[in-house]
Amino acid sequence: MTGKNVTVIGLGPMGQAMARAYLNAGYDVTVWNRTASRADDLVALGAKAADNVEAALTANELVVLSLTDYAAMYSILTQAPASALAGRTIANLTSETPKNAREAAAWLADRGATQITGGVLSPPPGIGRPGMSTYYSGPRDAFEAARSALEVLTGTDYLGEDPGLAALYYQIGIGMFWTGLVGYVHSMALAQANGISATRFLPNALSNMSFGYFLEFYAPRIDAGDHRGDVERVSMAVASVEHVLRTAEDSGVDSRLPAAVLDILRGGVRDGRAADSLTALVEVFRKS
Ligand code: NDP
Repeated sequence: MTGKNVTVIGLGPMGQAMARAYLNAGYDVTVWNRTASRADDLVALGAKAADNVEAALTANELVVLSLTDYAAMYSILTQAPASALAGRTIANLTSETPKNAREAAAWLADRGATQITGGVLSPPPGIGRPGMSTYYSGPRDAFEAARSALEVLTGTDYLGEDPGLAALYYQIGIGMFWTGLVGYVHSMALAQANGISATRFLPNALSNMSFGYFLEFYAPRIDAGDHRGDVERVSMAVASVEHVLRTAEDSGVDSRLPAAVLDILRGGVRDGRAADSLTALVEVFRKS
């Protein structure tokens, strides 16, 4: 891939940040968005607004997609003749399931295009700044050819040829991200209901959410199937979460979140894992 030129399709907060990063890096940038007015600020900064999807696709070999989901991708790309896709490298930075990523790669390959799947691990303000990263997978040659352009956005973590792999890593991580953050928000409701501000609790929250030690301790044990309850036990976690639940109830705070966690832990007890470590739930989850 030669030249500093790229098309960005999808101008939500993320696509806008990406197009801006390319402009800042001196790229010739063509943009297209369903709601055309979202291109206005970028055009003022020097981007070219394509009149239609076909013009956006044929303008450049590298096309970055940043959309809500792959349904949006099909809806957009089918507006152009299939010939407009031939020879394009589609850096699909739309978050989706691994299954849909593999299907999309095959759909694009049928039309002569190559998909590089991406899972962006940065909020829009981090795009174009150091310290951020994106998972990529798909054909290695295509990734290497596009690498310098992709690195304008974030660092790159290439995982392998399977187009579903970047999406899989992304979903595994984002599952932890959302459940962790919902836990944080619930706890802040509990704090607030008791007159403690989120800012007052911040140093404690940072400490509570520093899981690194646990992850390093648990990971090799999970891989070895070693779920000894020598440090903590599921039965202890049940008692502990019961206390969280009752504290929420006593504080007049919605207790559905601790109730759901308690339900999962009690499922572990029913499965005979009461005396095992919390990591035994890996096997309980996989069985169900
Ligand atoms: P948005 O959902 O806000 O924007 C998505 C874009 O998709 C818009 O340009 C929108 O067009 C377009 N779109 C949605 N549905 C359709 C459709 N049916 N037909 C045509 N166009 C459609 O997402 P973001 O910009 O926030 O994020 C883009 C991707 O990046 C997502 O996959 C997201 O998961 C991922 N991501 C986002 C992060 C973030 O913090 N924002 C962080 C990491 C990853 P229109 O303007 O016309 O509505």
